[in-house]
Amino acid sequence: MDRTIGLLGGGQLGQMLCEAANPLGIKVIILDAENSPAKQVNAKNAHIDGSFVDEAKILELARKVDVLTVEIEHVNTQVLEKIATEGVEFIGENGERTMKKVEVQPSWKTIWTIQDKFLQKKHFIANEVSTVASKEVDSNPGALHAIGLEYGYPFMLKAKKDAYDGRGNFAVKFPHDISEALEALKGRELYAEKWANFTMELAVMVVKTDDGTSKDGSSTVAYPAVETIHEDSICKLVYLPPRRVSKKVQREAQELARKAVGSLWGKGVFGVEMFLMDTGALVINEIAPRPHNSGHYTIEACPTFSQYKSQLLSILGVMPSFTRAAIPAMFPATIMLNILGGASKDSHKELMKRAIAIPNAALHMYGKESKPARKIGHITVVGNSMSEAEHLISPLIQLADNMRA
Ligand code: ATP
Ligand code: MG
Ligand code: MG
Repeated sequence: MDRTIGLLGGGQLGQMLCEAANPLGIKVIILDAENSPAKQVNAKNAHIDGSFVDEAKILELARKVDVLTVEIEHVNTQVLEKIATEGVEFIGENGERTMKKVEVQPSWKTIWTIQDKFLQKKHFIANEVSTVASKEVDSNPGALHAIGLEYGYPFMLKAKKDAYDGRGNFAVKFPHDISEALEALKGRELYAEKWANFTMELAVMVVKTDDGTSKDGSSTVAYPAVETIHEDSICKLVYLPPRRVSKKVQREAQELARKAVGSLWGKGVFGVEMFLMDTGALVINEIAPRPHNSGHYTIEACPTFSQYKSQLLSILGVMPSFTRAAIPAMFPATIMLNILGGASKDSHKELMKRAIAIPNAALHMYGKESKPARKIGHITVVGNSMSEAEHLISPLIQLADNMRA
């Protein structure tokens, strides 16, 4: 617990990680742009300004800390590999040079596998984890028409790397969309996915407590399955428990998530996104090797064990054994609503005002400048029943819909 953590990335996930670190007395040093959200709340003097893909800056961070982790997967994994296997160079008082290995959690290999969404898919297939059918595709009309013939329309065209909030995805609905899709994803390496006919999207946060891999997901701990609702490929709402989903399917979702995370390397918290298909089957969409939007609810619903606390304790190797295979929620129902930047810079102010007036609602603002469709905060409502939580949050959803850009 007295080891210092180095964090690549300082957005809202890093900020909430720091908020969980503060009461535990854990120091987190952050590498990201000046005054990024996470830097505003922990270890204020030691942070490093710069990019989490800049080798020199990552080495500078590594020299200051005991364990490195991430709040974003789009980082320079070559440098992380070097730091974990060869070490970083320290120059002593007398000019002597020594190399010291710094732990990277989860493993650079996990981050490297996940940051390329197609490589991630291949990893799932190799580990018998069900996922959506996909295929590498060249960036030209002929190749895409061939995919259209094979998968049918619509199909999803995705950038392999640097994707988030749907920026990197293009739903190709008809053959005549192909040129627009290629233009939208110009210059990026691509792959195509078969359209997933899902009835619902589910997500499960999983904590991995062991360095090794396991095909059966042992040494993993699952949070409850939640229902996620995306609009324009951005997560809008999270419902716990998922509505109209049997306990059996919820347990299956937890097991699939544990199996998928068990196949990866290193320790930490993972967000597992899934589709519940119209056939009733569960398939993995993608995994994030870090805290996840679908796990924000844990701050209020699992008050003594949020996803952020789990990330801290797991990467430090002190995740207590009482958590065993599952961490339960403390309330019968929880709903999380993302606050996205609206049409004007102040569009969200009314939503904030209304949220703080609801006794069961917790407002989180990230200290980010408001831009249209940018995630700038969220609200979590807890209730004694789903209908109570739905009743409380419904005027807020209405306001959020009205302020959209
Ligand atoms: P994130 O912010 O979660 O990292 P991302 O940019 O990596 O998002 P995806 O998770 O690939 O994007 O997709 C975003 C959303 O688009 C999904 O949650 C789902 O609603 C929809 N989607 C993705 N893939 C498919 C598919 N094959 N078929 C149908 N819908 C899909
Ligand atoms: Mg993603
Ligand atoms: Mg996603």
